[in-house]
Amino acid sequence: MADAADAATGARSLPLVFEAPRGRGKPPRHLADLAPDERVVVVEELGLPRFRARQLSTHYFGRLVDDPAEMTDLPAAQRAQLVAGMLPALLTPVRTLEADRGTTRKTLWRLFDGALVESVLMRYPDRVTMCVSSQAGCGMACPFCATGQGGLQRNMSTAEIVEQVVAGARALHRGEVPGGPARVSNVVFMGMGEPLANYKAVVAAVRRLTAPAPEGLGMSARGITVSTVGLVPRIKQLATEGIPVTLALSLHAPDDELRNELVPINTRFSVAETVDAAYEYFAKTGRRVSIEYAMMRDINDQAWRADLLADVLRERGHGWVHVNLIPLNPTPGSKWTASDPADEREFVRRLEARGVPTTVRDTRGREIDGACGQLAAVEG
Ligand code: SAH
Repeated sequence: MADAADAATGARSLPLVFEAPRGRGKPPRHLADLAPDERVVVVEELGLPRFRARQLSTHYFGRLVDDPAEMTDLPAAQRAQLVAGMLPALLTPVRTLEADRGTTRKTLWRLFDGALVESVLMRYPDRVTMCVSSQAGCGMACPFCATGQGGLQRNMSTAEIVEQVVAGARALHRGEVPGGPARVSNVVFMGMGEPLANYKAVVAAVRRLTAPAPEGLGMSARGITVSTVGLVPRIKQLATEGIPVTLALSLHAPDDELRNELVPINTRFSVAETVDAAYEYFAKTGRRVSIEYAMMRDINDQAWRADLLADVLRERGHGWVHVNLIPLNPTPGSKWTASDPADEREFVRRLEARGVPTTVRDTRGREIDGACGQLAAVEG
């Protein structure tokens, strides 16, 4: 991946694991892959007037229409041509699982080449969060994560990422999710894949989500969280993009010895380097960083590790970070299990006593394996 992005960060020799294997061709080009000026170029290439680009964007991002019959401002012949050329179907639903009386919905999608990915919609009284995938599979090989066990199949395209959010937005708009029509307020890149290993497509997807309608979905960058194992050069690069998304760092251990095992990329970027990069992200963007820490019984949940975690975070400064503890969702055949509730409480107490704000993630969707790629693993 010796591309401009690498040149910008001075990352000359990223490990092979950053690179997706050669795919069986690319997903078809889609409106959501393109910046607004590129859409105009494509429309003109199709031999159509340039203002059709904006009309099509309005249908896709503004009105959330997917049925060409509803695009009545486009003459029928041009409509077919535009839909074929710019709105190809990218995601085919294979299965939808619901929990919490339909307010949590996980969808397994098949991509054009048969790859499977999943997204989860979670509706709360005050917000709707879409958890999306950025890669089919994942190359980071974290041993407690179901997706990590299957390896990386390929990067997803920008439009494949965006379409997961648009599909959720459409379902909400049509009143298909209990609670009446609503909008997607939050997007978290916590589905399958390592978003910063598919950097260009993910950043472009964030730009589509945050561009004002009808050029994009018009979301606030503040509602978007990019979660990473800690690809240090990419964290530094993300801080320069001018899109103040929230950064979540999957730390899971405060010491290199354990983190080398739980998050293998740590052998490449140490805890100190990774936490420094996260701090720098805060310093540049003003966005408070979220530290993800999956609580695993007798592995990383000891009181001394809570103290060490607090030290590692506090020695960089105050008010720049909070910790989000995730009860481990055990994967089939895994030797690890969730922490004892008393150990979890003690862990929280010690962090807070040292001035580190801490929350415990709710386990929504656990019964439908909402946390970690298990549905696709089963289907695949
Ligand atoms: N690759 C990115 C985003 C995907 S996973 C990352 O690692 O951050 C989103 C979060 O879920 C990460 O913090 C990940 O470590 C965590 N996770 C993965 N498997 C899990 C499991 N079985 N139980 C609890 N959390 C898990």
